[in-house]
Amino acid sequence: MTDNTPTLPEAPTPFTRREAIRASLGAVLAGPVLLHRSTHAATEILIRGGRVVNAHGVMAADVRVIDATIAEVGRNLRAGDGARVIEAAGKLVMPGGIDPHTHLHPGFADDMTSGSQAALAGGITTVGTFATPARGESALDAMARMEATIGREAIADVILHASVWPPTPDLIAALPQLVAKGQPSIKFYMVRTDFGAQMEMVIKVLEAAREAGVVTMIHCEDGALLAAAVRRLTAQGKTSLEHYIASRPAVAELVATQQAAGLCEDTRAPVYLVHMSSSRALDACRAARAGGAPLFLETRPLFIHLNEEKLRGPDYQLFVGQPPLRPQGDVDAMMRGLIDGSIDVLATDHAPWTREQKMDPQLNIARVRPGASDLQFMLPMFFSEGVGKRKCSLERFVAATSTNAAKIFGLYPKKGVIRQGADADLAIWDPQLTRVARAADDLSKSDYSPYEGWSVKGWPVTVVRRGEVVFDGGKVTGSPGSGVLSARRPWSRA
Ligand SMILES: [Zn+2]
Repeated sequence: MTDNTPTLPEAPTPFTRREAIRASLGAVLAGPVLLHRSTHAATEILIRGGRVVNAHGVMAADVRVIDATIAEVGRNLRAGDGARVIEAAGKLVMPGGIDPHTHLHPGFADDMTSGSQAALAGGITTVGTFATPARGESALDAMARMEATIGREAIADVILHASVWPPTPDLIAALPQLVAKGQPSIKFYMVRTDFGAQMEMVIKVLEAAREAGVVTMIHCEDGALLAAAVRRLTAQGKTSLEHYIASRPAVAELVATQQAAGLCEDTRAPVYLVHMSSSRALDACRAARAGGAPLFLETRPLFIHLNEEKLRGPDYQLFVGQPPLRPQGDVDAMMRGLIDGSIDVLATDHAPWTREQKMDPQLNIARVRPGASDLQFMLPMFFSEGVGKRKCSLERFVAATSTNAAKIFGLYPKKGVIRQGADADLAIWDPQLTRVARAADDLSKSDYSPYEGWSVKGWPVTVVRRGEVVFDGGKVTGSPGSGVLSARRPWSRA
């Protein structure tokens, strides 16, 4: 296949935003055209009789896939010669999930193969992870290194965010190159204790990111306040993880979120706040969003399903994350925010560890292994708890788990929607299928699940990634290296 490489052309420098938009538009439009030009016999899949769910509506329709692309959506489509027909009566046909926030990079238990397998089995066809420069590496070098890994290991499609610190003129100079590379996003962590000291450069980066069309992801917890909490607890000898909640106060998330919202409102740079966990932080974003600032919000499954009691119960170390689990009022607020649209995206922040790694007695409030495996269970859990029990509409489900991420990160309308010309990334769901979440069934190399034993109603049964059936009959069939670094267009308000 020739389409296993990103389709964005090498950009001339200087690369203006207008050129970048035109280039990526060209890449999107070129997709189906190139397929028609290729000489191999077209492969057809006809998904028949399902309910097609998009963020803008639900309809009874068939979906015809030719090669990697959705060729037709409509009623009573007739299968072409040799087409594979998938009967979807009683099923939902949804865009493949897009999880822009996972940790499928060195340092965690999964590689891109096991991470992809868990994602696909859970209805997710595109994952975002981070390119973090090693010492001496540039942002672009780190991207190239990760791209090579994708070419060897990924089955799901992948997008990369450059995680770079400190902010420097070099980073500003690299932003148009990230756009040219088709990966226009970066990440900052306010947990860094020198974040405040770097504020002038942070603002300059945001201004340059706005001009280049680069989205800045921000982890909102104030590093200085966290350090102060750890210092006070340490002075009292309270360093064990039993004191984890006190070591990361919600107010540290609040003030960091206020600052990030203010930076977005002031610079008008697109800013995406990862893993929001508390209602006060959410409230701190409402005015900027209402005023039209390009401020986007994400929460994660742990924050809509579990409360801080887990950090006081047995095996509490397994539930350590950043930020920590919050009181039930916050949990309800995060779920409500997802359902009413005041939170845009549900993303895993998939951070796979083994039980042994999480229970390591060497860990303490100053040295943690944060996060948990979530790729396989995120969508079924949200479907079961949100759509099944909380009256989340199917449209909102798709918006929060696919379409919004596609729009924010420049994949739309190539991904995140079921319509003619889009990538054939599709998850066929059985909304009645009830199974119990068990770590033993999780294809991630993490060997425990925060949701062990939960009864979950609604699961993907067949998953198609760019026209290839990659999950069916409970098995992932896609091969490592078939996932690609998916080219994205720079952010724009449209
Ligand atoms: Zn993360």
